[in-house]
Amino acid sequence: MGQILDGKAFANLKADKLKEKVKKLKADGIQPLFCVINIGDDSASKIYVRTKKRRAKKIGIEQKIYQLPANEQESDVIKLIDQLNVDPKVNGIMVQLPVPDQIDENHLLSRIDPEKDVDGLTPASAGRLWQGTHFVEPATAAGIIGLLEHYQIDLDGKNMVIIGRSNIVGKPLAALALEKNATVSLLHHHTQNLKEYTQKADIIVSAAGQANLITADMIKPGAVVIDVGINHVNGHLVGDVAFDEVKDKASWITPVPGGVGPLTVEYLMEQVVKLTRRANGRQ
Ligand code: NDP
Repeated sequence: MGQILDGKAFANLKADKLKEKVKKLKADGIQPLFCVINIGDDSASKIYVRTKKRRAKKIGIEQKIYQLPANEQESDVIKLIDQLNVDPKVNGIMVQLPVPDQIDENHLLSRIDPEKDVDGLTPASAGRLWQGTHFVEPATAAGIIGLLEHYQIDLDGKNMVIIGRSNIVGKPLAALALEKNATVSLLHHHTQNLKEYTQKADIIVSAAGQANLITADMIKPGAVVIDVGINHVNGHLVGDVAFDEVKDKASWITPVPGGVGPLTVEYLMEQVVKLTRRANGRQ
């Protein structure tokens, strides 16, 4: 059976290190402050926002939540972002996605000061990521790279297949994996035959959001399998990977829950600390 890539344990280790960093900042009179803008009543978003608040508190980061009504106008959200951009006490700003239909998420993201962009989703941060000059990265992608490094799984020269090309997972992960000298394929709905790619992959990352998308026949023996997907099936939380059959063929595999999810929140907190240190001249 493949070994478990324990995201939860690694996230707790990271949290301990972050706590120490925050303690040092506080000793110098610096209190990291992270602002989350949540628009509307999406129940999953509300859970994510609460999870972040709990984690932030544990580490010593202050988090302010701006809960806005579902009919909020884009111009009003932009005004709020502008205020937070110029507030020297604010170190990080994120807009919880998705946003309601009357609002263009790209307008909001491009308004956030890149120096406060904890999510790494502003056009400036995305450009820097592909240029190799980034100082923030989208948290899920950074968490996956961190997890592989923690378990000493080298990416150099490996075939990495990523299913999903979103701005928050697939694309930034491709950029980070390229930096580590992996050969990357990004797969999506128009990809003709997923299996043709996945069977050649040394590392498979599935970020599609479809339960049982990755089955044992799709992977080569000894592959590393990272499951980003979050799906609700019959009241259970499952990933994209048919875990029970794939675990026997993989060398390493992330569980769902307890794999990538906890890392996403921890890496977000790390970005808040990074940006706070940067704003205070501590690189
Ligand atoms: P999106 O819906 O934005 O993107 C999904 C991507 O997967 C798209 O590029 C889509 O292709 C591709 N895709 C979906 N189904 C298939 C398929 N059957 N074959 C090939 N490609 C497919 O989702 P996100 O990137 O936001 O999230 C992906 C999943 O990861 C979700 O389940 C989400 O809940 C989860 N997630 C988990 C996180 C964590 O911390 N664990 C963090 C972020 C997300 P196309 O572009 O052609 O439509």
